Amino acid sequence: MEYEAVMGLEVHAQLLTESKIFCGCSTKFGAPPNTHVCPVCLGMPGVLPVLNERVVEFTIRAGLATNCAVQPKSVWARKNYFYPDLPKDYQISQYELPICLDGWLYIQVEGQEKRRIGITRIHMEEDAGKLIHDPAQPVSYVDYNRTGVPLMELVSEPDLRTPAEAGAYLRALRDILVYLEVCDGNMEEGSFRCDANVSLRPVGQKELGTKAELKNMNSFRGVERALEYEIRRQRAILDEGGKVKQETRLWDPDQGKSFGMRGKEEAHDYRYMPDPDLLPLLVDEAWVERVRGELPELPEAKRARFMADYGLNDYDAGVLTSEPALAKYFEDVVNKGAKPKTSANWIQGELLGLMNEKGVPIPEFESTISAPTSAGLYKMIDDGSISGKMGKSVYVKMIETGKTAQEIVDEEGLQQVSDEGELEAMLQEIFAANPDEVEAFKGGKKKLMGFFVGQVMQKTKGQANPKLVNKLINKLLGG
Ligand SMILES: [Zn+2]
Repeated sequence: MEYEAVMGLEVHAQLLTESKIFCGCSTKFGAPPNTHVCPVCLGMPGVLPVLNERVVEFTIRAGLATNCAVQPKSVWARKNYFYPDLPKDYQISQYELPICLDGWLYIQVEGQEKRRIGITRIHMEEDAGKLIHDPAQPVSYVDYNRTGVPLMELVSEPDLRTPAEAGAYLRALRDILVYLEVCDGNMEEGSFRCDANVSLRPVGQKELGTKAELKNMNSFRGVERALEYEIRRQRAILDEGGKVKQETRLWDPDQGKSFGMRGKEEAHDYRYMPDPDLLPLLVDEAWVERVRGELPELPEAKRARFMADYGLNDYDAGVLTSEPALAKYFEDVVNKGAKPKTSANWIQGELLGLMNEKGVPIPEFESTISAPTSAGLYKMIDDGSISGKMGKSVYVKMIETGKTAQEIVDEEGLQQVSDEGELEAMLQEIFAANPDEVEAFKGGKKKLMGFFVGQVMQKTKGQANPKLVNKLINKLLGG
């Protein structure tokens, strides 16, 4: 039987606020265990949570950017469960009345039409602490620094049909949140995490099949691999006439397999109840409109503009707008007079590679080699002052020394010979010394082009403009 996969994603995005969601403790990562804690985030009796307004502001931003309706009234709920990393024994979240509803975003898988993927809801909640299991001893430790760090949970509609679509959705969502400066989008470090619901149904059937929930996928590629595996696993069960079990499964990226972890809990297992310590959250229209007015240009709009304004193709525009800092770097270079296409090629081809080798993140490109400095090099390549090949070694030296392209070219005498008169005189000498080759070339042996070019390169120590030399040989020998 032919099956269709139905997938929905739940994303937890850690918000980039300086303090926690209900207390003033720092959210900074990497502090010694249990140093960013207070009676509120440790769940001591008698304390009261105080809502961090920035958390609401950031979530409104995300809601508007994903076309959600921001709700005038939403309600905080307690999600009750026991776990050692949750000192209160309940997590403050939003349940029946979340802050954002009914959004969507567009995704595009290469070679396919754009598709609109629904976003069911976005709500705010607090993170739990972290358990550290010591493999050497029968002991576990707990670090409450992360307890109360603000999270936003974004739940998609079950609109995704292939692992590639799920990957495209995640990347689109990550790009939006990074552009909004509400989340750093770092999947490897866990500040952007994803769980997936997957079920199969016979093609043409409306009713959904039994779903499994997948957890522990910590890279975009990991999500796609885990979904591919899960679809294969469920199809094999159904093909044999079996039934898929409703359960939560853990993905193991090293083995490339998932393992059943526990039966899936239902919402009612958590005994949600409105939190009596927190008033319903009221968001008036003026607030929403102010946030709307402050939204930056979003990735999709920027991509379209880069294609229209700079004549870039889809791929180049996609790479260059993948991070706001990279998009800004590109535009700064172009504003300094470098050609867009050359700039796009060099930023993607050389700059990203060189910076990656040095371990320089994109936001620090500007302080490592400024956009005007890069523009200087790209312009010299475009006007033929140096060849592309030389440009590569010049770029390395520019980054090492902080000098401009012109300074390095002058110091090392790398200027490309692009003087037509000079090259023509040189060619005439070469022709005079090699009359047999000239005759053969004229007689149709075009392969000798390489021989003549080689002679010129020898005389100029490789600095002749090869395009121009080719052109001149054809002109002079009537090729
Ligand atoms: Zn605290």
